[in-house]
Amino acid sequence: MAFAYNEGMRQADSSTVYVAFGGNQGDVRSTVQSALEALSALTGSGVRCSSFWASAPVGMAEDAGEFLNGVAAFETRLEPLGLLQALQALEVRFGRPAAHGVNQDRTLDLDILLYGDQLIDLPALQVPHPRMTSRLFVLLPLQELLKEPLQEPGMELRIPGENRSLDELIAAAPAMRISRSPIPPVPVLQPPRVPDGQLRAD
Ligand code: ADP
Ligand code: MG
Repeated sequence: MAFAYNEGMRQADSSTVYVAFGGNQGDVRSTVQSALEALSALTGSGVRCSSFWASAPVGMAEDAGEFLNGVAAFETRLEPLGLLQALQALEVRFGRPAAHGVNQDRTLDLDILLYGDQLIDLPALQVPHPRMTSRLFVLLPLQELLKEPLQEPGMELRIPGENRSLDELIAAAPAMRISRSPIPPVPVLQPPRVPDGQLRAD
C-alpha cells in the first residue's frame, strides 16, 4: 500500500489496542494521565481506562514502593512498531531512564497487550504480550475494562493464539496480593478534534 509507512507509519484502517500501564515511582496517577492524554492526541482516539490496581513489588528492594497497574484501550492507525516507538518515547518523556534493569523501580511502563487480532513475533515486539496471560495485574484490569457499559454488549475478548477465556486465565493465574486502588481512575479521554493523521509524535 502506497501510504502504509507514511505519516509516522500509519495504516489505512484503525485497530483496537489494549496497553498495560504501571509504575511505582512518583505520582503514578498523574504520570499515567499525562501519558494517556499524549497518546490520545497522537492517535486521535478516545482512551478508556481501568481503575488502578495496587500490588506489592516482587523481587525488588524492601523499600520499593507499591505498584499501580492498569489497562487502557484506544483506536489507532499507527502500525504496531510505530506504536511501540511512541510508547517508548512516552516512557522516556515521563521520567523513566532509557536503560534500566529488570525489576527496577520505574515511573512508567507501557506494554502493548493486544493489537486488534494480530499475532506478532518480532525481536522487539511480541503481541499478545507473552506474559499477559499469567499476570493478574494485567488480567484483572483488562476484565474490568471489558465489563464497562461502553463496551458493545456480548462482545467477548479473544486473545490470539490463546484458547482460554479471560475468566479461565484469571482462575489459572498464579496468586498474588492485588486489590483495586481507591485512587480515582483516569477519566475517559475524549478524542481530540483534529483528525488522526494531522498530528505527529513530537
Ligand atoms: P518489561 O515491560 O518486561 O518490564 P521493558 O519495558 O524494559 O520490560 O521492555 C523490554 C523490551 O520489551 C522493549 O525493548 C520492547 O522492545 C520489548 N517488547 C516485546 N514485546 C513488547 C510488547 N508487547 N510491548 C512492549 N514492549 C515489548
Ligand atoms: Mg515494558
